[in-house]
Amino acid sequence: MIRTLQPYEDVVGPIVISQLRQFARDLAGARVVHVNSTRVGGGVAEILAWLIPLMRDLGIDASWEVIEGNEPFFHVTKSFHNGLQGVAAPLTNRMIETYEQTVAANAERLRSTLEDADFVFIHDPQPARLLELCPNRKGKWIWRCHIDASHPYRKIWKYLQGKVQGYDASIFSMPEFAQPLPHPQFLIAPSIDPLSEKNCPISAHEIASTLQRYEIPDDRPLLTQVSRFDRFKDPIGVIEAFKLLSEVIDAQLLLAGGGATDDPEGAAVLEEVEDAAQGDPRIQILLLPGDAHRTINALQRASTLVLQKSLQEGFGLTVTEAMWKGKPVIGGNVGGIRLQVHNYHTGFLVNTPEGAALRMRELLRRPELIKRMGDTARGFVKDNFLLTRHLREYLTLMLALRRGMADHLFAA
Ligand code: UDP
Repeated sequence: MIRTLQPYEDVVGPIVISQLRQFARDLAGARVVHVNSTRVGGGVAEILAWLIPLMRDLGIDASWEVIEGNEPFFHVTKSFHNGLQGVAAPLTNRMIETYEQTVAANAERLRSTLEDADFVFIHDPQPARLLELCPNRKGKWIWRCHIDASHPYRKIWKYLQGKVQGYDASIFSMPEFAQPLPHPQFLIAPSIDPLSEKNCPISAHEIASTLQRYEIPDDRPLLTQVSRFDRFKDPIGVIEAFKLLSEVIDAQLLLAGGGATDDPEGAAVLEEVEDAAQGDPRIQILLLPGDAHRTINALQRASTLVLQKSLQEGFGLTVTEAMWKGKPVIGGNVGGIRLQVHNYHTGFLVNTPEGAALRMRELLRRPELIKRMGDTARGFVKDNFLLTRHLREYLTLMLALRRGMADHLFAA
């Protein structure tokens, strides 16, 4: 993995890197701790894996902590996740007890690190309660919500709001996700690392041998969705769309994904997906280990089109990854996908399997449109969704909080 900023000059140019160093000067030596709930799987882990080394390269003393929990704990936090995304998910007293006890046990392990830090970024609801367990905190605490929280289920939001309102600031990916909270809210979109194994350039030979390894023929269009097996990613809707498409066009569908250690529902969803595919030889379901970054890179590049037909989506890094590889994306018309997919420019937004089938057909019949939209998609990611922009926004946020901008603005 790349651990310094210098090689990114080749992608974004020297001024962008020089500006990052300029902003970071005032933060030299600051102790910054990020906390989330899994080291592998899902977009948050992807981002933290590049963010920590690059913050360190900028002279910031950044570290990454992961809260530990057992299966019942992750069932509760999955309920939080689903509830924030609007599902009437369960929340019993027993579940609250499981959650609170597990976070308390983590607080014992992490308290001194967190209380001494200058900035603590708590990612998503799983570790949110840590704040109230660190009464002697010195630094600024920021709650970073990666989830589409635009219409949270009231009961779950009421509980979580009590845990996050004491933070100094929160970050959401889109204005629609922001919630009534008594502190400044920042809008920062996620990003990808263009030099990571997942996104770096790879040879045509490697792409071809990846296809061979998984016995994916290269003689017909390949439509791919890479995702955790999660109902919000709508893999069943993708299969429905593909079945409609294949009545008129001979193509193949690849659903590639794995699980995240903090997502206990994956196995059940995978079973539903296998049932829906009904052994159709044109549909391949690929279960990948958490470190299959180069494989995913090759599969995205080998694809004719990429789908991300989510029903709810905080951002959708898989969309960014595909666009960076010059692929138009057919994405669900929800959440952060709307920031990235713009109809007829970088892909198509769809609401139903029928809509997805129609757009796939339209694109597959017009290869020149695939090329043009793919080129636009790559340029759009370069300008908006690479890690250098993301890092700059984290730096300016920390500078703003340190300089008391929040106190000043919100004193009244
Ligand atoms: N991913 C992966 N292996 C998988 C499925 C997904 O490495 O089997 C990666 C994917 O490439 C992307 C991230 O996990 O970088 C998923 O982020 P996204 O924002 O799309 O969805 P999330 O899982 O966070 O809801």
